[in-house]
Amino acid sequence: MKTAAVDPALYEPRLRARLAELEHRLHGIEHALEAEPNPDFSERATEREGDEVLESLGAAGVQEIRMIRAALERIDEGEFGYCVNCGNPIPAARLDIVPHAPRCAKCA
Ligand SMILES: [Zn+2]
Repeated sequence: MKTAAVDPALYEPRLRARLAELEHRLHGIEHALEAEPNPDFSERATEREGDEVLESLGAAGVQEIRMIRAALERIDEGEFGYCVNCGNPIPAARLDIVPHAPRCAKCA
């Protein structure tokens, strides 16, 4: 029998809310990237810098979405709250900050 981990019910609503928020935001980013370029050259240069910021935000967001989906799968499998590396329970203090954390502080 495993040592008790945190109660996933405390984290699942947060994970789902965060996932919905990220998906919503990424959708907005895609629309911004598809927008018509500005005909004025100097403004276009500024927009290009903006696009790079949007793209890096997008990559971080996609990565976070992946980690949240994996955390939700672990909830389904009854593995949530256990380190995927060493199997020890992840302390609530860590999950309170990063609910989708897959590893304990030692293995991270
Ligand atoms: Zn670990």
